Amino acid sequence: MASLRQQIATTALTLTKFRDLMKRMQESRPHDDLAIVKKAYDYSLKHHEGQTRASGEPYLVHPLEVALVLAEMKMDPIAVAAGLLHDSVEDTSVTIVDIRKEFGEQVAHIVEGVTKISKIDFATREEQQAENLRKMMLAMVDDIRVVLIKLADRLHNMRTLEHLPPERQHKIAEETLEIYAPIAHRLGMGKIRGELEDLGFRFLDPVGYEQVEKAVNARRKQGEAFLERMQLIIADKLKEAGIQAHVESRIKRVFSIHKKLQRQHISVDQVYDLCAMRVITRSLQDCYAVLGIIHNLWRPVPGRIKDFIAMPRPNFYQSLHTSVITEDGTPFEIQIRTEEMHKMAEEGIAAHWKYKDGPVSAQDEQRLAWLRQVVEWQRDVSDPNEFLSTLKVDLYPEEVYTFTPKGKVVVLPRDSTPIDFAYTIHTEVGHTCVGAKVNGRMVPLRHKLHSGDIVEILTQPGHKPSRDWLGLVKSSRSRNKIKHWLNVHQRERAIEIGKKLIEKEARKYRIALKEIKDEDLQKVASGYGLGRVDDLMSGIGYGKYSARQVLARLLPAGATPSIAGDIESEGLTSQPGGIASVVRRVFGDHNAITVRGQGDMLVYRARCCNPIRGETIVGYITRGKGVAVHSVNCPNVTNLLYEPERKIDVEWARDDSTPTAYPVKLTVFCDDRFGMLKLITGVIGDAKSNIRNITAHTANSQASVEVVLDISDLKHLETIIVGLRKIPGVHEVQRLQKI
Ligand code: MN
Repeated sequence: MASLRQQIATTALTLTKFRDLMKRMQESRPHDDLAIVKKAYDYSLKHHEGQTRASGEPYLVHPLEVALVLAEMKMDPIAVAAGLLHDSVEDTSVTIVDIRKEFGEQVAHIVEGVTKISKIDFATREEQQAENLRKMMLAMVDDIRVVLIKLADRLHNMRTLEHLPPERQHKIAEETLEIYAPIAHRLGMGKIRGELEDLGFRFLDPVGYEQVEKAVNARRKQGEAFLERMQLIIADKLKEAGIQAHVESRIKRVFSIHKKLQRQHISVDQVYDLCAMRVITRSLQDCYAVLGIIHNLWRPVPGRIKDFIAMPRPNFYQSLHTSVITEDGTPFEIQIRTEEMHKMAEEGIAAHWKYKDGPVSAQDEQRLAWLRQVVEWQRDVSDPNEFLSTLKVDLYPEEVYTFTPKGKVVVLPRDSTPIDFAYTIHTEVGHTCVGAKVNGRMVPLRHKLHSGDIVEILTQPGHKPSRDWLGLVKSSRSRNKIKHWLNVHQRERAIEIGKKLIEKEARKYRIALKEIKDEDLQKVASGYGLGRVDDLMSGIGYGKYSARQVLARLLPAGATPSIAGDIESEGLTSQPGGIASVVRRVFGDHNAITVRGQGDMLVYRARCCNPIRGETIVGYITRGKGVAVHSVNCPNVTNLLYEPERKIDVEWARDDSTPTAYPVKLTVFCDDRFGMLKLITGVIGDAKSNIRNITAHTANSQASVEVVLDISDLKHLETIIVGLRKIPGVHEVQRLQKI
């Protein structure tokens, strides 16, 4: 129990802060009922009583500061109340049920979300893992206010990080740079992102931070004087042109300078846009007018003019950027945008996220959908001046983010089941999977997983995959693993049956299988173009070759059966419709490719070269997987065909009533310039091809765009390649055989 004196001190300090909060709320939301905020304050005061932070301050200061940040974002009373209560479930005896009873469903839902995220251990060094966590966190929450409270919480924790021991500082700072700053960036919240990054850098690398800060400070005076001069010149010219605009200048943030130094391997002296200027206009037309005026005043640096107004960044950032060189040779950067665009750049999603009373409207739902899309599409922008680098369009964005009991994120397609999860962990875990626990509860294997689920797979040694699983799995990876297993084991059975059929047939001639020499069998196998006796046996088992014919080749001419035997009566059949039909069902019909003279063989397109209809192809009989079909140009073909007996003639089936689309990957090497992507997708669209995936990388104003397309045949592909090569600025188009 806190002493009376402590209680009085706490009350005095927190009451001042609470009054600030209420004042700010009244200003930003004059028509809202703030009773819930007051109630949340009283409730927090009561339940955090006696708790202190590492700084020695009363604990309540923290939720109050978080609420203040939210009020600055102009968030609604529900969000601010939830902000005041955000640590109550984690750090006090209060439960979600209590919160729901006192504050209603919405506040409880938000506090629950914040608590849930607090429990995730974000510690990670793996970049992909960090990316997954960011996506997962955003996908998991169904109310954006959860994320905004989490950001406000992190901001205040970072502002007071000095009070924690160094290891904790390091860990929290790292997490801030890896998870929270990128999320703020994605949501377009430039201001919070900037502060999080600078604080994160300062605590993660104090020496590096100080170096950059010192270097910047040494140039600050000079820079500010320079900016002041430029600002006056611009303001003068704008007045002359009758344009009303506000000009502001700034020295860039420490972290953004640090990133630039790292990226370009240069010293602070070489950073030419240490000083930056911003012109904020009244209208969109004025933006372009101002750009004209500035380019009239100073010479623009070629290739540095970026029109993010016509082509907004995926986080909806809009602005014109240009770099100019003054008469005395000093380059500097100018950003031009309207007031509205400026607000969006600083506050992002919070700027247009105005919650009304009552339930979430359809419009808000749409915004959530928009947000998810932004999250899916937006990757880290490594260089803010590279427009192509922000682009990653995944046309199959539906993913769920699940966890192993140890907290590793497993990304799966939507509607995935525990079987998918098991195969993602390890093939053997998949094969031996007998059950699963989701969030501690047993579920059937057909159970659909959701983002945030913690999945524990139960295995049993010796357990085998079932064919029914093919209907339960969602990811192609697990499907392939199951198919492969079934195929291999089907083959084992086929070999066994093949042997039995030969034995049966041989018995008619009073010959035991043992009496037949291995080399004779091998010869017959080779005669069929097969590498091993097992291949011959499985061929018989699958019903591809008849046991009688095979045996005929083994026996001296003129041998006649002495016992009449009826194979069919024992339930073993070498006729198609037996095992062969089972195998075909497993694999689907590969009727697009036929093996000359062998209608029933299993055929698949080799993954190393992915041949498409129209290409010259060769077949290669694999051990147990049927015939792999390669393009003759495939580099593997030369290696594979060192055993010529394995080669088999294949051809594209003439009549293909169901046209197949093959995924083909192309790399387009081109100039990094405006409109390039539109031209590329235009050519593809004109050829009526579907884009499965597109990614772009840029460096030194050059770009390489990788695109995976659905292609129907070779002619279709050639049309697209020719079209792409015709685009001005495209240097080369290459097909990547491997997808
Ligand atoms: Mn907190």
